[in-house]
Amino acid sequence: MTEETFDVVIRGRRVLATAGTAPREVGVRGGRIAAIEPLGTGLSGAAVVELADDEILLPGLVDTHVHVNEPGRTEWEGFASATRAAAAGGVTTIIDMPLNSIPPTTTVDGLNRKREVAEGQAFVDVGFWGGAVPGNKADLRALHDEGVFGFKCFLLPSGVDEFPPLDAEELEGDLAELKSFDSLMIVHAEDSRAIDRAPHAGGDNYAAFLASRPRGAENKAIAEVIELARWTGARAHIVHLSSSDALPKIASAKRDGVRLTVETCPHYLTLTAEEIPNGATAYKCCPPIREAANRELLWQGLQDGTIDCVVSDHSPSTLDLKDLENGDFAVAWGGVSSLQLGLSLIWTEARHRGIPLEQVVSWMARGPADLARLSNKGQLALGCDADFSIFAPEDSFVVDAAKLRHRNPITPYDGKTLSGVVRRTFLRGHEIDGLTPNGQLLRRGGRDIAPTAGTEVRGPAEYSI
Ligand SMILES: [Zn+2]
Repeated sequence: MTEETFDVVIRGRRVLATAGTAPREVGVRGGRIAAIEPLGTGLSGAAVVELADDEILLPGLVDTHVHVNEPGRTEWEGFASATRAAAAGGVTTIIDMPLNSIPPTTTVDGLNRKREVAEGQAFVDVGFWGGAVPGNKADLRALHDEGVFGFKCFLLPSGVDEFPPLDAEELEGDLAELKSFDSLMIVHAEDSRAIDRAPHAGGDNYAAFLASRPRGAENKAIAEVIELARWTGARAHIVHLSSSDALPKIASAKRDGVRLTVETCPHYLTLTAEEIPNGATAYKCCPPIREAANRELLWQGLQDGTIDCVVSDHSPSTLDLKDLENGDFAVAWGGVSSLQLGLSLIWTEARHRGIPLEQVVSWMARGPADLARLSNKGQLALGCDADFSIFAPEDSFVVDAAKLRHRNPITPYDGKTLSGVVRRTFLRGHEIDGLTPNGQLLRRGGRDIAPTAGTEVRGPAEYSI
């Protein structure tokens, strides 16, 4: 019907665009979505992809909480391995956390180091959070001007010495600073004094570890963040919400007009403290995975809109640091590896609850894109980047940690059967093949840095996503 020829046309009975799921044809030109028409229109493309009957075309997911750890702790993770894992999980944009790399992203020099090493290694698009630490208030504006999407801070020791926490007064000062250029503070909200006074974790007993990171510590820190956001008028975001106790005060603050958003993670929504075996440090993260009743309330918080989005908090380390031999929760690194599995994890749990796939995708694509103000990501809509995954929601697979694409083969989901298989992923209309890194380094406001060099990076020989 049309004379126009697109670079790529994707056709299928199920295409999840902003108006809902329908039989459609999607035309891509210059890396952007240039046409969305009813199936049967007959758009012509230089390449044509036909979905199988069990497949749905989804917008690429956006994961705003990924610890890549390169440079400095590249043995924990790295840009090539992390972005391959992302692509294999249908994630086409990640935003890297400012800590665990050395140097951390707390100065423009640190940001530039990150970009230098990420360049030419990224298989998906990569943006960067800056870090707010004691003494770097004067660096925040410069980092903002250099394109970070906002700033991460801690209210208790982060686990690495080079990224110390802010106290309440410093947080208030930094929030006021960020307000002056309308940036965003994302906060690890556990209260340092409350953790100091809690029973100490020790040994392989999960219940003892859980008691060492009580809900009260989260509740107190979240209350503090809410009030400081209220006083300063700055935008604040709670990362990795675990304690469901905090939901009513978050909802109340939002009703009051406090500029507050909240994320939670697959591990809090799919796992429970009751099922974690003693010594199973793959499950250790902070704040911790809590009881089944807590998990149910987090699902309610998502469904009623109190929680805005679901992101991975992929925070890997070497196997060594997980203290697998002793299984000591006090010693092991805190962090769950799940970057490649998020969509299938949340979909598996959501479908049992009768929650539609469209809602899941909204929490994992549009929600995080809105948080980072990535207006051309997270939606299958005209003018947006042609980032997609082809997903088979009724298909299933068994997780094999050794076959996941992130660097160190550990995840608490090893051996679990999940619903929904990501079969192919596209970035700006190009299928991600795991060999040619076509990811771009993103800046706040959507101005892309030059594409990463198209040099081939050899991965595992059997690589396919
Ligand atoms: Zn994190």
